[in-house]
Amino acid sequence: MSARLPALFLGHGNPMNALRENAWTRAWAALGASLEPRPRAVLAISAHWYIPGIAVTAMSAPRTIHDFGGFPRELFAVHYPARGDPALAARVGQLLGPLPVAADTSWGLDHGSWSVLRHVFPQADVPVVQLSIDATRPPAVHRELGTLLRPLREEGVLLVGSGNVVHNLEAYAWGAHSAEPYAWALRFESTVRERLLTGDPLSLVDYTRLGKDALLSVPTPEHYLPLLYALGASHPGEPVTFPTDGIEGGSVSMLAARFG
Ligand code: ZN
Repeated sequence: MSARLPALFLGHGNPMNALRENAWTRAWAALGASLEPRPRAVLAISAHWYIPGIAVTAMSAPRTIHDFGGFPRELFAVHYPARGDPALAARVGQLLGPLPVAADTSWGLDHGSWSVLRHVFPQADVPVVQLSIDATRPPAVHRELGTLLRPLREEGVLLVGSGNVVHNLEAYAWGAHSAEPYAWALRFESTVRERLLTGDPLSLVDYTRLGKDALLSVPTPEHYLPLLYALGASHPGEPVTFPTDGIEGGSVSMLAARFG
């Protein structure tokens, strides 16, 4: 049996999903419970560590970062005590070389990581390293970085890109329980699924060429780019499945993609 772990993209949506139980969080939990072999570590690429440069968290005990405002106190009380993995951080630096990769000791786990990992690995017993998204580089480079990270899948490391393929907070229905999805949001989520499934996934890399639905769905790159890491880490022709999907608040897609 192959010891290769899948590469994942998870749509994280509202940070309150960290505390909720719903169809999305149940899908994340089922995914975590089903992984065989069980990962020895996670490499998370979160939309919320979007900085000018490539950095990897190198501390052995990353802090839980509450990188948001205006949410209930319970959310600020959440701590996700997963250990770090300095050896994995060094391995990431090696795989991405000769690009400069900073060994970071000040970041930690932001809510893009812990709001989903809290469900995937509720015991926080799998060490987590975060890789930043270098805001200075174009989409194609992010896919290439994913490809360079691909060997980790055979080394017991679960790659988790965490963002949202549709993420328009201007249109988001804060506080509303059931906002009707915008037609462009539904269409773009479908476009992503279809292109991943039907053999033209590389057309997703330069998303700015995918028309008006893409421009509305991806007004800024940071929540979309984690998908390109998971795509890059996939093997050509590898099966793709969608553990969960759906539109939250009218304008955020909760689509998850599993490669392998
Ligand atoms: Zn987010």
